[in-house]
Amino acid sequence: MRLWEKADSSGDAGKRLDAVLGALADLYGLSPWNWHTNGDPFRVLVGTILSHRTRDPKTDEAARAVLEKYPTPEALAQAPVESLAALVRPVNFYKTKARRLKEVAALLVERHGGVVPDREADLVALPGIGPKTAACVLVYGFRKPAIPVDVHVHRISRRLGVAETRTPEETRRVLEEIVPARWMLHVNELLVKHGQTTCLPRNPKCAECVVAVWCARGRLHDAETQRP
Ligand code: SF4
Repeated sequence: MRLWEKADSSGDAGKRLDAVLGALADLYGLSPWNWHTNGDPFRVLVGTILSHRTRDPKTDEAARAVLEKYPTPEALAQAPVESLAALVRPVNFYKTKARRLKEVAALLVERHGGVVPDREADLVALPGIGPKTAACVLVYGFRKPAIPVDVHVHRISRRLGVAETRTPEETRRVLEEIVPARWMLHVNELLVKHGQTTCLPRNPKCAECVVAVWCARGRLHDAETQRP
């Protein structure tokens, strides 16, 4: 039995998640907030490579700079690494990411005719591209159903009580079973927005959370604050 079901034995995880995602969609809307997740597959791929351990505004700044100067895989594959490093300096690990961008672009040209592939197997075969980045490209670039599980999605799924998991990959497998089909394109965006604004890593704002009624941790918080 999952934590979610322990929190309320009458509950059904899929239905509750449906309610959570509906409330979050009403609150935040369904449009991506970031420039790098709101564009074509190449933009999403470049942005997601740059996004690791970097805040969204810095990721967007660096992705814009790269794509203004090198707008295609062909151009990026020919870019001098020093030039790329200067453009992506706002992001963490910028030297490594500059090399990675050039490497990935060259393989897009060599293996895929300069086009970002729309199959997970082809994406994860590129260097440094894991399941999360591949899922971001599928969802945000191609609008294909996939669930990118980053730190926000993993943390909130555990707090909600829908995933009793240790790793993002385990959480992804659980979510793939229970996320209602109509939310597959939006679950990442909605949970990330919630994680950045309310369900913060250290001090989640449970008292003002719109999904607390469906959340295992939110219910605990309610019970504690109502204790005489
Ligand atoms: S009730 Fe608290 S733990 Fe649950 S989703 Fe809201 S902020 Fe996060």
